[in-house]
Amino acid sequence: MWRSTVALLGRIGSQCSAGTFSTTAVRSLSHAEATNTFIKEALVELDYPEKLQRLLLTPQREMTVELVLQMDSGEIEVFNAYRVQHNNSRGPYKGGLRYHPQVDIDDVRSLASLMTWKTAVMDIPFGGAKGGITVDPAKLSERELEKLTRKLVMAIKEIIGTYEDIPAPDMNTDARVMSWIFDQYSKLKGFSPGVVTGKPVYLHGSLGREAATGRGTAFAIREVLRATHLGRIPDAKFVIQGFGNVGAWAADILTDMGGKVVAVSDVTGAMHNEKGLDIKALRAHMASGKRLVDFTEGSAAPAKDILATPCDVLVPAAIGGVITEANAGQLACKVVAEAANGPTTPAGDAVLRDRGIVVLPDIYTNGGGVTVSYFEWVHNLQNFTWEEDDVNRKLERKMTDAFAAIWAISKSKGIPLRTAAFVVALQRVTRAEIHRGFD
Ligand code: GLU
Repeated sequence: MWRSTVALLGRIGSQCSAGTFSTTAVRSLSHAEATNTFIKEALVELDYPEKLQRLLLTPQREMTVELVLQMDSGEIEVFNAYRVQHNNSRGPYKGGLRYHPQVDIDDVRSLASLMTWKTAVMDIPFGGAKGGITVDPAKLSERELEKLTRKLVMAIKEIIGTYEDIPAPDMNTDARVMSWIFDQYSKLKGFSPGVVTGKPVYLHGSLGREAATGRGTAFAIREVLRATHLGRIPDAKFVIQGFGNVGAWAADILTDMGGKVVAVSDVTGAMHNEKGLDIKALRAHMASGKRLVDFTEGSAAPAKDILATPCDVLVPAAIGGVITEANAGQLACKVVAEAANGPTTPAGDAVLRDRGIVVLPDIYTNGGGVTVSYFEWVHNLQNFTWEEDDVNRKLERKMTDAFAAIWAISKSKGIPLRTAAFVVALQRVTRAEIHRGFD
């Protein structure tokens, strides 16, 4: 029999008194500090020893590399790249690769930590990691992008692996980038489809993976609306900030479920239609290379107005840190469903709490992506794939179960859903840490 986790906790140093952490004095926090602020709020509920808290807050390994690339022009460019492995007590490190000009070590640290808690909330057997390259991929040719990706694999090849650390898509990386990673790693180490997820379906990927984060977001919204009695998807109005993979699929699936998406935005601007946008027509418009704001079945507006657009559910699905103390007072929704990673700052979150706006936290809302990544990894290990219906049904079950766990803690402790999600995740990670031991 296991000795109880609580008894084992006593051996990791003195308890830290509740109330050690405060969120009232938050100024401008870095991404990693913001994430740790949310974790610390949950730690107050758990009263863990200080040394254990430090272990849970700190990444286990960080790698920073320089990637030197000869551009098509013959010029030499140098790019910074990172892989941060936050925690692997529950299984191999897992998390995406982001190609974006704003990527830095602090950003990746925060995102890696969020992956640890996300895989724990979703109860899939992985830890958390994240990587990225500080680059604007729109400025690279296809050939340059491929070379840069292969260079990244050469740089991190010793710390990734099927049972070690498994990258996946994130902002500006897609199935094509994942196939280069699969190919490069397999050239070095032998055939390894399980080293990366989010691969094309015809190259050891999984049906349903591309839509999974958006689909999971829709299931998450269904669950929260049901539990809070704030309505039903078919009666609700949605606003979606960000129309990349996550935002576009979330919009598509929410409309399939009967919801009305009244506004969406991307970097070019926002598109509004009070009667509900025809999302499939909008996606086809964008797929043909046209700009969002040139869609004719709605009215264009500046991108900055999107967050204040009246709706039932606001879905931030782009970059982090967009809902802040400065604009949280202007939100005109009942629910914020965080499809992006880290879209709300702690000070912004405090305003939303005061206003009684329900926040469905990122580590749960967008957990559908990594969940189907897990299914893909299982396919790769077994050399057997599932039907799309099967993938979607299993995803739905995972989203429903995770919500039930978060809701139960939120109700029993009287805490917001975000803090409850971190409590669920911290308990699962801590149980693994302690039962594996420290020798
Ligand atoms: N990048 C996605 C996320 O932030 C997916 C990660 C994965 O599939 O490993 O959750």
